[in-house]
Amino acid sequence: MNTETDCAFIAVSEFKQTCGFCGCTFRVELESRKSYKDTCQYCCPECRHVCIIKTTRPPRVTLLSERTDGRTELYPDA
Ligand SMILES: [Zn+2]
Repeated sequence: MNTETDCAFIAVSEFKQTCGFCGCTFRVELESRKSYKDTCQYCCPECRHVCIIKTTRPPRVTLLSERTDGRTELYPDA
């Protein structure tokens, strides 16, 4: 694993998000500015619910508080 990539991560913007499926909260940090044509995916750190954001580089996700739904299953695929 290459850890230098993570060390070089420079967030230019960030926001908090609450997962609509499991209720956990997490921080999403964007390394690059919003894009109108490129999209990247990121996952809820607890249930792997996939979100899509318009940005040019994959965001970094950090769990802030654990899920509140009392379940343990992952977000169901489609
Ligand atoms: Zn979730």
